[in-house]
Amino acid sequence: MTIDELTAAIGGTVIRPGDSDWESARRFHSGIGEPSLIIRAASVDDVRGAVRYAAAERLDIMVRSGGHSAWGTVPGGLTIDISALDDVSVSGTRVSIGGGAHWGAVAHTLSEHGLGISSGDTASVGVGGLTLGGGIGWMVRAWGLAADQLVGAQLVTAAGDVIEVTAEAQPDLFWALRGGGGNFGVVTRFDFEAHPLERIVALTVGIDGDARPVLRALRDVMASAPLELTVTYMDVPAMDPNAPAGATITAVWIGDDEDAVRRVLAPLFDVPGVSERESGVQSYPDVLLDAPAFDPEQPMPGFIGGNTLLRELDDDAIGRLVGFREQNPASVVLLRSLGGAYGDVAQDDTPFPARDATWFAMAGAFDIPGMLDDDGRAAALARWDGIEALGAGVYGNFTVSTDASWAQRMYPPATMSRLAAVKREWDPDNLFRRNHNIAPA
Ligand SMILES: Cc1cc2nc3c(=O)[nH]c(=O)nc-3n(C[C@H](O)[C@H](O)[C@H](O)COP(=O)(O)OP(=O)(O)OC[C@H]3O[C@@H](n4cnc5c(N)ncnc54)[C@H](O)[C@@H]3O)c2cc1C
Repeated sequence: MTIDELTAAIGGTVIRPGDSDWESARRFHSGIGEPSLIIRAASVDDVRGAVRYAAAERLDIMVRSGGHSAWGTVPGGLTIDISALDDVSVSGTRVSIGGGAHWGAVAHTLSEHGLGISSGDTASVGVGGLTLGGGIGWMVRAWGLAADQLVGAQLVTAAGDVIEVTAEAQPDLFWALRGGGGNFGVVTRFDFEAHPLERIVALTVGIDGDARPVLRALRDVMASAPLELTVTYMDVPAMDPNAPAGATITAVWIGDDEDAVRRVLAPLFDVPGVSERESGVQSYPDVLLDAPAFDPEQPMPGFIGGNTLLRELDDDAIGRLVGFREQNPASVVLLRSLGGAYGDVAQDDTPFPARDATWFAMAGAFDIPGMLDDDGRAAALARWDGIEALGAGVYGNFTVSTDASWAQRMYPPATMSRLAAVKREWDPDNLFRRNHNIAPA
């Protein structure tokens, strides 16, 4: 098929280098891509046409949903932009969401229906990439990962077929979609079981002074906290425009009882330097953050660090995380409570690693030109390696690395073998490889 035939066959747009909208089409939330061709799909049929074209021309496919990952920066291949497939329809607690929708718009619609889905923290992130990789958000202890609420999906396969995936119809594929990333086809519709949700309490605690005793108290509180509560500790320098500078804990509680949150967190306020900064009762869309889009004038610096799923937040882990921040002035440390509904899912029910983790940790030093020399970089990396060694797995969505080794690090061998078998069945030629790639085997 020629490009002109392809253009005539689809309802969306085929965009080539040099076309008037090429520059805007190749720009996405996290960067500027250099694909060979971009198709803006307007329908599921367009996605089928695009996949068949890519297969015939032997082009790797990059599915662009929210465009928050780094995969769009890999040169060459066909980008299928599915962001126009963003319908949200609600029937009771069953919610069907187009594969290209963004969480902010979804949250607005859900809110109108008194519903919520555990998603991520940020409005512009795509439902596609976040859900397929797992999805850790403000409500992870209450309702688990985004992927845990998935009950079905419509998938355009590497063969260009459209299939419905459910636990009953395609058990292995359904298992693989809930944490195995975009390896198995283009999800054009996600079906979720949502939860009744009217209001959310968001309460922020400030920490002045040593965070170690505060984190020890937080760990002890969260060991028996109600599932309604998920907490996030962040320590960021003033340079980060997305978050208040310094060390804070944000508590998100499903419900409208601010005093209930204060009662659960009471032991924290006995620690010197801890004070309530702000609190309010909000709706679901209000708690989602805005993230600035990629600015070529101010590209993000490199990041030396990573993330890890911790079975236990012991004193050693706390000391290393707080120490990481102290020893790297331009760095960020994040801790999110897990357990609860996240841990109620059996390990083999999804490919997502470490269901017995009780905390998710992330730390990284910004590699700002002129700030870190080779020794500084090596020291930051060694400090991070010491933290990751304490963990039970890594979360693939929280990396900007496109290194092929990541998939091997993400999945234990038995999970990887099962994923590889599903991949062999549904994408034997590895057409969908712009992801933490699972080689068909
Ligand atoms: C500012 C920011 C905030 C974030 N916050 C969170 C957070 O709170 N929690 C969290 O868990 N993660 C978070 N992330 C990480 C995020 O989950 C990943 O970057 C995710 O891959 C983004 O999905 P996307 O659809 O926006 O990205 P894209 O780049 O469009 O897609 C990411 C990957 O998924 C594939 N893909 C996307 N949609 C589909 C589909 N419909 N069918 C098949 N394959 C598809 C793509 O091919 C690609 O491999 C955040 C990232 C950023 C940049």
